[in-house]
Amino acid sequence: MSDSPDVPAGAGPATEDFYCDEALSGRTAVDVVVETDTVLAFHHTHPFWPVHIVVVPKQHVPSLIDLGGGDMSAVHDVLSVVRHVARQVAADHGACRVLTNLGDYQDSKHLHFHVNYGEPLRD
Ligand SMILES: [Zn+2]
Repeated sequence: MSDSPDVPAGAGPATEDFYCDEALSGRTAVDVVVETDTVLAFHHTHPFWPVHIVVVPKQHVPSLIDLGGGDMSAVHDVLSVVRHVARQVAADHGACRVLTNLGDYQDSKHLHFHVNYGEPLRD
């Protein structure tokens, strides 16, 4: 499990929400790619692919299928930044993946998209 792409570095079992608890709070410094009023995109602190950027809403949204009572505006804002970042990765490398995890695949219970390129760095 510690080698799954969904596990951020430094986030042990202590937190179920790396993004609110660490990245957005500033407790863990992140290398920002894009920041808007509502969205943060940053290089993954423990990348699983050679290019691995995570895009999250600044407000807490549990997942793509559980908006936590909020509306789609947060998802739209996140996807707008995902499109921007993915366009740049595809332009730089000729290919790009975008993925989000749900249910047991989602280790950090805060909506996030992985924008990545290349072969996995670990098995
Ligand atoms: Zn959160």
